[in-house]
Amino acid sequence: MPGINFQKLRDEISMERVLELLSFQGTRRQGNQWYGYCPLHESEPKHRTAFSVNLAMHCYYCHKCKSCGDQFTLWAQATRTPIRQATINLCYQLRQDVPWIRR
Ligand SMILES: [Zn+2]
Repeated sequence: MPGINFQKLRDEISMERVLELLSFQGTRRQGNQWYGYCPLHESEPKHRTAFSVNLAMHCYYCHKCKSCGDQFTLWAQATRTPIRQATINLCYQLRQDVPWIRR
């Protein structure tokens, strides 16, 4: 099975795009650093900034469920699909070619 070039894909499918697909509602923004409710679980109103994401660094972290990673990890967690399959599904959904690593 060929691998997926995540590095290339990270530039093509931004964290912002994935957040948009997950209907993420940011509650606070400081430049590239966004905060809001975690899209991975039900949050109480007091958890309005539990989820933080850095668009420039392509990473997120939830202080509540401790989930962290890049946009593909987030998508995999949100869709409860293994990362590889989740990423392929994401590419199809966005009509994006999967950047396979050919050996
Ligand atoms: Zn969370």
